[in-house]
Amino acid sequence: MFVDSHTHIDTPRFDADREAVIQAALDGGVTRMIDPGCDLASSHAALALAKAHPDSIYAGVGVHPHEATTYTDAIGETFRALAREPEVVAIGEFGLDYFRMLSPRDTQRAVFCAHLELARLCDLPCIIHVRDAHADVMELLRTHGQGLRGVFHCFSGDVAQAEECLGFAGFMLSFAGPLTKQGNALPDVARMAPLDRVLIETDSPYLVPKPLKAKRNEPLFVRHTAAKLAELRGTTIEAIAQVTTANAVRLFNLREKKL
Ligand SMILES: [Zn+2]
Repeated sequence: MFVDSHTHIDTPRFDADREAVIQAALDGGVTRMIDPGCDLASSHAALALAKAHPDSIYAGVGVHPHEATTYTDAIGETFRALAREPEVVAIGEFGLDYFRMLSPRDTQRAVFCAHLELARLCDLPCIIHVRDAHADVMELLRTHGQGLRGVFHCFSGDVAQAEECLGFAGFMLSFAGPLTKQGNALPDVARMAPLDRVLIETDSPYLVPKPLKAKRNEPLFVRHTAAKLAELRGTTIEAIAQVTTANAVRLFNLREKKL
């Protein structure tokens, strides 16, 4: 059994066949999925999807750094209310993205801190997106994130950055499709990360893992990232499934799956 710890299955690219994609994941052993919102509307959509699929889909509420200019205090209040729903298991995704820089840096930083505060008030883990912004994320977590827990989703840094991330005791690293590709430091990161601090995800519909040629990623494909992780760690995919599922259950406090 796998947990896909990060999928955007609420988004329009699944409108035509969403239920079939969810059923394929469940049939293929991906028994639980976490769908983090990227703005107010998708946070509501993720929660609605979670309510329609109890014990299989869970939601996060947050504003992605690309949309940071849309964040308001009123949205923060709404997230606080939504976070009382049992299906909401995280604040996120939020973060800093200086690669695409679709929102000004200062806005991104302020909205990042607002989400840390929400995570603290709601006592929920953070789902953090980082792209070309490692130093700033570390700085803001040190100054505003003490004692919080969460995940660096789709981790894309090197070993030194991974070590710095793992210095935050409540945080895990999550591997997505890029682990299956050449030309990055992720294999080294995957070999050094303590297995009890590792999650797997698809970030679907993005980041199709190798060797698949699909145009759209989906939760079922998380097993390809799991298989790569097993290969790098010299263990079995079953062992990776077991430990990453236990990690996700612990971090997000997922209800016991009744089969
Ligand atoms: Zn995402």
